[in-house]
Amino acid sequence: DLRLAQRLDAIKPSPTMAVTAKAAAMKAAGQDVIGLGAGEPDFDTPDHVKQAAVDAIWAGRTKYTPAAGTPSLRQAIADKFKRDNDLTYAPEQVIVNAGGKHTLFNALIATLDPGDEVVIPAPYWVSYPDMTLLAGGTPRIVETRAEDGFKLTPGALDAAIGPKTKWVVFNSPSNPTGAAYTRDEVAALCAVLERHPHVWVMSDDMYEHIVYDGFTFTTPAQVNPNLYDRTLTCNGVSKAFAMTGWRIGYAGGPEALIKAMTKVQSQSTSNPCSISQAAAEAALNGPMDFLAQRNAAFRDRRDMVVRELNAAEGLDCRTPEGAFYVFPSCAGLIGRTTPEGKRLDSDLDVVTYFLESQGVAAVHGSAFGLSPFFRVSYATDTDSLREACRRIQEACGALS
Ligand code: PLP
Repeated sequence: DLRLAQRLDAIKPSPTMAVTAKAAAMKAAGQDVIGLGAGEPDFDTPDHVKQAAVDAIWAGRTKYTPAAGTPSLRQAIADKFKRDNDLTYAPEQVIVNAGGKHTLFNALIATLDPGDEVVIPAPYWVSYPDMTLLAGGTPRIVETRAEDGFKLTPGALDAAIGPKTKWVVFNSPSNPTGAAYTRDEVAALCAVLERHPHVWVMSDDMYEHIVYDGFTFTTPAQVNPNLYDRTLTCNGVSKAFAMTGWRIGYAGGPEALIKAMTKVQSQSTSNPCSISQAAAEAALNGPMDFLAQRNAAFRDRRDMVVRELNAAEGLDCRTPEGAFYVFPSCAGLIGRTTPEGKRLDSDLDVVTYFLESQGVAAVHGSAFGLSPFFRVSYATDTDSLREACRRIQEACGALS
């Protein structure tokens, strides 16, 4: 009798990966499926980054590195924080991990005791609550409202913080909504956090570079230096440099926390891949001009997707500031009936209907903690996106 750990009982596998897998299986079975579930850019890793990895292999950078990352990459990250975020971190205040997900996981494992709460605004990136549970903590979900642009208000943040709060997770631009907080909005939340000195701030800045229409990205430790000593500023190369497969994330923060995370890492995964570290160093130290071009393509797709989804009967989609997701409401479809006679009772019913009737794979809002919505990733080619929107319109129009 194989007995698994009780701590696994409360957590579920990543639903976004599940949707992607289901769509892939349907495709493999010969069905015409358009996947809008994936959270990765369809662009390729830049050539100079690939070349740096090839060079690293031939230069013999194929051995263990220090657990927290190579000195030269940690320096490159410190330089990046200074350059992009006006944040001063010494290399000893920087850790490199096997992906952004791993950064957050190490931080939670290193800090959470049973009973500790993590405040997570919803809709949230699917891994925050489950990682919290896995680390022995308790997620404290705070729902945001579409009317507020899916942004946490200072009042709601204040009300969510209690004596057991260990962390507040902040994610801008957001997965799954694409919502990004202006400097004033960040400052207002920081002012609340300033009044709660026992609370740590986990800022997940993974989509920093993917913003539109001249939006200026800011991060809590930059906006309010009084929070610097208890903020972990998390980032990575996955999204900006189209490097999801290389598995490199990183963070800057107080040295004691970075040391604790390094201890966890040294006894679990050791250093991140040495070759990927060399590639990440080339990415961070190299040209960034390709970003403007890619963002322009993302912005065009965003505008098209928002327009076409709003043209579908029963959907309502706001225009987000960043990332490559939109999060339309499907409230207008709930209670309607499909041509096969099935009533749509939830956003899961809606995305299942889109997948089964039209071969369009999106992810239900309940996976992200807010219903009735669904997430569309527009990190896919424009023709597929246009066709997917047409099919969604058709599916919505076929309901009675
Ligand atoms: N944070 C957010 C908000 C994300 O959306 C993702 C990836 O989907 C990550 C972190 C993790 O990225 P990585 O692939 O580097 O683990």
